[in-house]
Parts: sequence; structure tokens; C-alpha cells
Amino acid sequence: RTLQVDLGERSYPIYIGGGLLGRAGEFFEQHGLAKKSPVLIVTDDHVAPLYLDTVTKSLSEQGYRVVSKVVKAGEKSKSLEVFEDVMTAAIEGGLDRHSAVVALGGGVVGDLAGFVAASYMRGVSFVQMPTTILAHDSSVGGKVAVNHRLAKNMIGAFHQPKMVLYDVDSLQTLPIREVRAGLSEMVKHGLIWNAAFADWCRQHTADLLALDPEALGYGLTQGCSIKAQVVSVDEREQGLRAILNLGHTLGHALEAIGGYGEFLHGEAISIGMAAAAKLAVNRGRDLSIYEETVSVLKGFGLPTAMPQQHDEHAIIAAMMHDKKFKEQQLVFVLPVEIGKVEIVADVTLDEVRRVIAELKEEG
Ligand code: NAD
Ligand code: ZN
Repeated sequence: RTLQVDLGERSYPIYIGGGLLGRAGEFFEQHGLAKKSPVLIVTDDHVAPLYLDTVTKSLSEQGYRVVSKVVKAGEKSKSLEVFEDVMTAAIEGGLDRHSAVVALGGGVVGDLAGFVAASYMRGVSFVQMPTTILAHDSSVGGKVAVNHRLAKNMIGAFHQPKMVLYDVDSLQTLPIREVRAGLSEMVKHGLIWNAAFADWCRQHTADLLALDPEALGYGLTQGCSIKAQVVSVDEREQGLRAILNLGHTLGHALEAIGGYGEFLHGEAISIGMAAAAKLAVNRGRDLSIYEETVSVLKGFGLPTAMPQQHDEHAIIAAMMHDKKFKEQQLVFVLPVEIGKVEIVADVTLDEVRRVIAELKEEG
């Protein structure tokens, strides 16, 4: 399957299918990526033993010179320190302006390598090779970043890839916790844009958790397609694109206060989506929105209650560092109904405190 992200001269294809990593060289050649300049593959120490050789071999066979940098797996690698380490690898590897940086891995490697690609010599080509379910989201749209200790994704850029090569075979080695967390963003795409797709996710919960290739292929294509449509309308988040942040105001705060080690991104935004639905209900929306949101997320084994160990002050303090905080009020994406959301900029801290307390009772 091929999707297109329409962004004028920055448009690019998303290839979704089996066996793509072993054909990386072909795709590079087809897209005219320079052969004289070294290619830097950035990956992590879980993914490297599984897929780095396959990609390196395919690129080498096609005449590309490949260097690689393996970072430690996990969200903590989305830091300025690791960013500098990858930069060092790029300089030592002799990358020039015509080089490409490849992200081989999940959203962590994607965001990190993408920020390197955006910054190295003020920007070089970037190729995404996502290997997690979650990365159907992170590999599309061009947001790249590292975290600050105080706030998630605080240091970053917009830098669109030249292509996304999504080899769904690679997903078979994902640990189950990562499968669940990745499906959280898939459900999000249904909740914000397409009620029928949200319902499809609910009906195919078991198939998706079992990594059934048919169901995965369909779900990921739909998810990427929704993301691509939204980003095509609003590349730089002037308006519509913000709907993709459903669950993220609170989710990012939970990630930061957990020291980027407690919750996976998909888990944190699952709690965040439950909270957004509850907040919408408190503002007068139908209770069924909350019930249905929680039911589909719970079906995937995702958390939807607030962890008891974090007090509301810490959570709220972390939210106030978020990019979505202005004048004592928070910007939230709130569901209107399943498949439709609105962006509201006047959520008060009291409303947030109430939701935190209510979701703690659910735990
Ligand atoms: P991740 O990159 O940490 O990958 C999850 C885990 O799975 C890691 O331990 C990794 O080593 C391992 N792994 C990856 N592929 C594997 C495979 N095929 N087989 C076995 N193990 C594998 O995390 P993620 O969930 O993919 O991404 C989360 C990140 O994405 C967060 O930092 C989040 O902020 C970011 N994100 C960015 C955007 C964006 O638009 N840029 C959107 C959504 C999320
Ligand atoms: Zn996300």
C-alpha cells in the first residue's frame, strides 16, 4: 500500500507492507538519494540486533556507504545529550549536505534522528523506517524533537521525511506492552476523525493484539491516512493539526513527572484520552462518550485511571510547562462525540483538579 502526504514540494510517500526493510536500497535509489554521501542509520539497542543488518546490507548492495549509531532503547534517549552523541557520529561518519539520516525504530529514534536530520548542517534528508505500531503516528507529519527534563518535546523542529518505509513484518517482534501502547494512537485516530474506524478498532481488538497481518495492515493504513490528511491541511499546527493532541495535554505531563520511565507514551495518552472524555462530560457532553472511550482503551489493556502515587500538584505543575498552557488556562482537545473533537482554550485548573480526582477514584 502507498499513501501520499500532500505538502506541496515537501510531499512524500508512505509505503506500508511486508519485506520492505530488505528492499531499502531500491527505495533509496528510486527516490534519488545521493550515493556519494554517507548515510547515517540511527537505531536503538533493541532494534539493531533485529533489523540493522538487513537495512545496511540492502543499502550497501545498492552502492550506498552506511554508518550507524545505536542508542539505548527508551524515552530517555530523546535527550540533548544523546542528540549530541548522534551528531558526533554524523560528523565522524563524514556526513555532508547531501547525506541522509535514517530513523530505524520507534517514535523515540524517529524523533531523535529527525531532529538530528533537521539540525545537521541546517538540515539534511531524512528517511523514516518505523518498527513500532506507535510509529505509524510519529513517522508521519514531520514533528521531530527531544525532551527537556521539565517538559516533553520542548526542543525540536518541523522536518518532513523524504519517505516513510513501514515494514509491517518488523512488528511481529514487538513486546506486548509496546503493542498495546502503539494501538493507543491508532484508537486516537479513530476518536478524533472517524467513528467507523474507532468502532472497527473495538471490533478487531483481539486481531490487533494478536498482530494479525490483515488487521494490522488495515489499521495502520487507516491511522497513517488520517494523520496524513490532518497534516496536509495544517503542516505547522496553526489550527486543525492540534486535534492530534487528544489525550496529550495530560499525557505529556504524566510522562514528564514519571521521569520518562514510568509510562510509555501510548499508556500516558490513554489516561489522557480518558481524562479528556471525562472533562467533556463534566462540561455537559453525553456520558456515553466517556464510557465508550474507556471501553475501547480498556479492551486493549491500556490504563484509563489516574495513578494514585502522583499528587495533583505535580501533575498540574508539569502541565503548566506544556506548550499548550496560556494565561492560567489550558488548551485541551475534547471529544464532542466519538469521531469528532473540538479544541478548547479555556480549561481551568479547577476543572483539571476535578478530573484528576475523579480518575483517581477509578483506579
Ligand atoms: P520507542 O521508540 O521507545 O519503541 C518502543 C520500544 O520498542 C523500545 O524499547 C524499542 O527498542 C522497541 N522496539 C522498537 N521496534 C521494535 C521491534 N520491531 N521489535 C522489538 N522491539 C522493538 O517508542 P514508540 O512507542 O515507538 O514511540 C514513542 C515516542 O514517539 C514518544 O517519544 C512520543 O513522544 C513520540 N511520538 C512522536 C510523534 C510525532 O509526531 N513526532 C507522534 C507520536 C508519538
Ligand atoms: Zn502521541
